[in-house]
Amino acid sequence: MSDVKTHQGTCHCGAVAFEVDTALDGLMECNCSHCYRKGFVLAFAPRASFRLKSGEADLGEYRFNKHAIAHQFCKTCGVQPFGYGTMPDGTETVAVNVRTLNDVEPWSWTAERVDGRSF
Ligand SMILES: [Zn+2]
Repeated sequence: MSDVKTHQGTCHCGAVAFEVDTALDGLMECNCSHCYRKGFVLAFAPRASFRLKSGEADLGEYRFNKHAIAHQFCKTCGVQPFGYGTMPDGTETVAVNVRTLNDVEPWSWTAERVDGRSF
């Protein structure tokens, strides 16, 4: 288990900025039709550990399948930095796209591959 740190993230154009407190443990890559297309490497954190700093009005929302996850993307640059969801136990959660965290060195992480395509 690594230490919990505050990480800053942005979309590509910078309109959307956020920070999240996470240890970046349990990173996940998924092969479902959505995650795979967008190339996500995801970190999950409680919604209370996440703060949107700017860009509320710049965010669009995409939902598909059971519409359980509110995927948030920047309407200007198209980058999806995070999505809001709820764990099976009811915990409000945020799934952060690790590739949008400014202080995480590219390819410094390892992520578990999850077979979301078969779910
Ligand atoms: Zn943007």
